[in-house]
Amino acid sequence: MVEPVRSTTHAEREAALEVAGWNPFQLAASDVELDLLTDSGTGAMSHDQWAALLRGDESYAGSRSFERFREAVQDVLGFRYVVPTHQGRGAESIFFGAVIDPGEIVPSNAHFDTTRAHIEVRRGVALDLPVPEAYDPRAESPFKGNVDLEALERLLAGNDGGKVSILMLTITNNAGGGQPVSLDNIRRTAELARRYGKKLVLDIARFAENAWFVREREPGYAETPLPDIVRASLAEADAVLMSAKKDAIANIGGFVAVRDDEEFFHRLQGRGIVFEGFPTYGGLAGRDLEAIAVGLREVLDPEYLRYRIKQVAYLGHVLEEAGAAVVRPFGGHAIYLDAGTMLAHLPPSRFPAQALTCALYLAGGVRTVEIGSVMAGRDPETGENRHPPLELVRLAVPRRVYTSRQLELAAEATAEVTRDPGAVAGLKIVYEAPVLRHFTARFRPAA
Ligand SMILES: *Cc1c(COP(=O)(O)O)cnc(C)c1O
Repeated sequence: MVEPVRSTTHAEREAALEVAGWNPFQLAASDVELDLLTDSGTGAMSHDQWAALLRGDESYAGSRSFERFREAVQDVLGFRYVVPTHQGRGAESIFFGAVIDPGEIVPSNAHFDTTRAHIEVRRGVALDLPVPEAYDPRAESPFKGNVDLEALERLLAGNDGGKVSILMLTITNNAGGGQPVSLDNIRRTAELARRYGKKLVLDIARFAENAWFVREREPGYAETPLPDIVRASLAEADAVLMSAKKDAIANIGGFVAVRDDEEFFHRLQGRGIVFEGFPTYGGLAGRDLEAIAVGLREVLDPEYLRYRIKQVAYLGHVLEEAGAAVVRPFGGHAIYLDAGTMLAHLPPSRFPAQALTCALYLAGGVRTVEIGSVMAGRDPETGENRHPPLELVRLAVPRRVYTSRQLELAAEATAEVTRDPGAVAGLKIVYEAPVLRHFTARFRPAA
């Protein structure tokens, strides 16, 4: 299928950005020439996925499509029980609603924004404990997505250990550069979970990309088939949360899968019925379940993953050549610009990463997303703006959509910004929602 792409003039983009309140989330897609806002649900489905769509069984209860979906989850991921949901945050909603009491602390390598929101709206504490090198954009370590095991153990052994019931890992780490988590780090986290009597829960939105990095970078796995690395990575998790819009290469969908705790599964299923739908469709059409079932298997094709990871790295190289400060090493689904460095004249209170997303759009019609002080939101206790250690702009690459030549447009836009970074004005917030403000916030250039 071919989709036309519209070029715009600088004046048209200026007008569009003004209407959008200087928030690229609010732009019309037709005003965007290269859309690197997200890799979520934006992938192109394969011929096999489209074929599977046509056999969608739309029975309310007990559809064949659900059977095929469940078989894929069981075969590829190794979990017996699965509750389908309309997308990843549906999985978060039914899962965290079942496990979070006020004051509960949920440690992780780094929580994704929606995960944090689901913990915080239940008055839990979403605690990021990444390895220290995760905060150094130039450190070349192979597994910057790892959790800091010493910090995790200090938490579990300390006074607050009793407030923890689950340990989480997000693979790959989306909030912190799309960096992978090593199999060794997953195993050691599982050991801590067992020793302290906690559950291990993985957010596996990008399980296939993570497995690719394990094979490429972790000693001893170069010859291990990707499906085996996936099974080994998930073998010790009690449950997983999945956004099928990522590594199931579907346009919508998600699920929670539980290994063997039938009682817990029934609790989740009950919540699923209230918030998502009957247990054999969970807010999805039968045809969506078919697309996910095929995508979960396809994503482990080594030819696909090699191209995927190399295309993202190519974007990283051309951005570096354009003079951008880029988080190293390159992530699996996205390249992250270090806006704090690129726009050093703007303090965090002027939202340098948001300002950079606007500058890239103005320069070349390229849509990206801020992962910095805007997305970090306010501290739920004090109401103050949170300023994370890094102000990042993410250029996420949709799966199987753009040619590498199209990705070069992002480098051309970046080169225009790096020629005169001082010309980029900071921003002030004029409207923000109380939760997940980055989606709908409105800004104005600060004088
Ligand atoms: C996208 C994502 C989610 C949320 O999934 P949605 O399908 O967007 O609701 C959760 N965790 C991670 C790591 C993600 O990337």
